[in-house]
Amino acid sequence: MSDTTPKAPAQTPPKRLFIKTYGCQMNVYDSERMADVLRPLGYGVTDAPEDADLVVLNTCHIREKASEKVYSELGRIKEMREARTEAGGGRMGVVVAGCVAQAEGEEIMRRAPVVDLVVGPQAYHKLPELIARTARALGERLAADFAPEDKFDALTQARQADGVTAFLTVQEGCDKFCTFCVVPYTRGGEYSRPPADILAEARQLTDQGVREITLLGQNVNAYAGQGGLASLIRALAAIDGLARIRYTTSHPRDMDEALIAAHAEVPELMPYLHLPVQSGSDRILRAMNRQHTAETYLKLIDRVRAARPDLALSGDFIVGFPGETDQDFEATLDLIGTVNHAAAFSFKYSRRPGTPASAMAGQVDEAVKDERLQRLQALISQQQLAFNASQVGRTLPVLFERPGRHAGQILGRSPYLQAVHVDGPQSLIGKIAPVRITASAMNSITGDLAPEAVGAPA
Ligand code: SAM
Ligand code: SF4
Repeated sequence: MSDTTPKAPAQTPPKRLFIKTYGCQMNVYDSERMADVLRPLGYGVTDAPEDADLVVLNTCHIREKASEKVYSELGRIKEMREARTEAGGGRMGVVVAGCVAQAEGEEIMRRAPVVDLVVGPQAYHKLPELIARTARALGERLAADFAPEDKFDALTQARQADGVTAFLTVQEGCDKFCTFCVVPYTRGGEYSRPPADILAEARQLTDQGVREITLLGQNVNAYAGQGGLASLIRALAAIDGLARIRYTTSHPRDMDEALIAAHAEVPELMPYLHLPVQSGSDRILRAMNRQHTAETYLKLIDRVRAARPDLALSGDFIVGFPGETDQDFEATLDLIGTVNHAAAFSFKYSRRPGTPASAMAGQVDEAVKDERLQRLQALISQQQLAFNASQVGRTLPVLFERPGRHAGQILGRSPYLQAVHVDGPQSLIGKIAPVRITASAMNSITGDLAPEAVGAPA
């Protein structure tokens, strides 16, 4: 989870659009699509907010800190807008999109009058119209209704690929109602796009040189298109040029036999699974309404690993959920010890207004949460380091994505989603080549191109 911004094209068209993205990969995907729908209006992406004619903050509501960041960014934008007006520049439009927009529409406009338009995740296709209307009347500042079909149907603009890898949203929303989570309220109910639309978008991407697609959804493995996610993966694997498929984020309850079998049988499906468990304590899992236990989770992991023995596992953890005792927390550490992760995300429980857990008794002290988070992250770091070190001496197929920071260096990803640094020619970008891993660190591994890579890469 990081703040990212779609990259600026080499040539900047007349109107400049700055998009700042908070939160998950689904927001990264949405930001790219917003840039796509605004391109026909003459907007080209810029990296410099101070020069932008239109600033879009694509926000995340998942934790309190994520929402608060938006308000402080709006303060900075207000100053930029004033400086620009004083310098005689054109008017800077300000749009707040994403889940904070959905959850706090009225509140945003009250707290931050600099905002021209607030638009929820299901209304991005209306952006061109809303922006035009806002410019005319500075009216209709709030669009946050739910109708995901409309959104995807209307986002028909050609998708512009940005490199060798791409995200593709196949499912949105959530019906699970974990007691800590705002997603079912901000993104609405589960909705799956039709397979034909997804395949068409994937073909558009591969025609532009994309070799790896990550399928996105808040509950991607609850994908309900015909045949479920496994069928979709098999159909995508048949697309010429598409070498790698990944998917995220999954829920343990929706990990079905067909998807597990796909891990054994579809070589394009990468051996990496992000399967959040949140806690190792059954008492806490029940209070979270996760609908699985630590044991059913571990059994599930065994089944996926039986299908794909080299599977790298990642997950999400929350520490300090209301009522979490030292014993509950130890159960989480035990579970982590059993699973042995290649990576993981961990968070302190954040009280989200309107969610059942925010009203639960036994809210945990911040200092206790801090201490637990540190212990949990130390354990995960140990496992991540060990996982990276275990690749040293192996030869892995690496998909090269871009030049590295140093001259002569290229950067790619292993099947296990590790960043791989190699000295090699830029002609390998977009190709998969074998790399003998020679060294490892916390966030990357390093290697040499295997002799055969110099001959004929895939
Ligand atoms: N649907 C996915 C699942 O159930 O695993 C997760 C989607 S959510 C956007 C990503 C992660 O944010 C969750 O897995 C959870 O660990 C974390 N999260 C959600 N609400 C939270 C809260 N109130 N406090 C702390 N972390 C939270
Ligand atoms: Fe949130 Fe739970 Fe739905 Fe994931 S499954 S998005 S954590 S409510």
